Amino acid sequence: MERSADGVLEGSDIGSQKDRVVTEEEWLQKWETGNIGFHKEQGHPLFQKYLDVLLNGRSGLRVFFPLCGKAVEMKWLADMGHSVVGVEVSEQALKEFFAEHSLPYCEEPVPEISGAKKLRSASGNISLYCCSIYDLSSSIVGKFDGVWDRGSLVAVNPCDRQRYVSLMITLMEKNSSYLLVTVSYDPNKHKGPPFYVPESEIKSLFGNHCEIKCLQKVDDFSDRHRQWGLDYFLEVLYILKFVA
Ligand code: SAH
Repeated sequence: MERSADGVLEGSDIGSQKDRVVTEEEWLQKWETGNIGFHKEQGHPLFQKYLDVLLNGRSGLRVFFPLCGKAVEMKWLADMGHSVVGVEVSEQALKEFFAEHSLPYCEEPVPEISGAKKLRSASGNISLYCCSIYDLSSSIVGKFDGVWDRGSLVAVNPCDRQRYVSLMITLMEKNSSYLLVTVSYDPNKHKGPPFYVPESEIKSLFGNHCEIKCLQKVDDFSDRHRQWGLDYFLEVLYILKFVA
């Protein structure tokens, strides 16, 4: 693998992560045991910084949060008058989201998906599907003007990445924007998730369908990453524009 001047790996080798699989049960267990170091109680700084890029002056958008957890940004967007749709396998995560924001909600079945349910805020503008993202399609959830993908593509098992991206592309409206946060670290030193997704792979996964621009790389290295055995950890933000 090549290194840039600052010592950061730049190759497309994802090392031993290629075959790693995290099961739905393992994710549910993370929620049950409170092993959710990925959750950002104060929201994500890059969301705040680049929200205008996502919204592009538009109001009343439909914004999708794949693998949403209990991301607080869903509440922020709803408060701004947008409508939010999320999907998450952990019902606990979704219930914690509504409880922590004191939002009343109701539970509805999803006739198209056996075993799934939809938790909908009483105000109607937050709908969170409790099921696997792979159960969704545009005929069930419609299409979206915007996506916030943080902790999502990077949480998808590497063997499912193509399937995930193909599905996401079918959910994008014309002239929609997709903010994607990936992570960059030495994949030989940590097994993930989050998984390292190289820029070359972003281009091969999405490149035929949208314009891709890297907006920022930020150093996000912390004690947590040091404990994983890493010596650097970056977040990389892209804007994907699905033009007409
Ligand atoms: N995007 C959130 C959560 C990131 S962690 C945030 O930024 O905080 C990834 C989340 O995806 C976990 O909550 C996990 O339970 C959920 N998840 C994993 N596989 C999933 C799948 N196939 N469908 C829906 N949710 C899934």
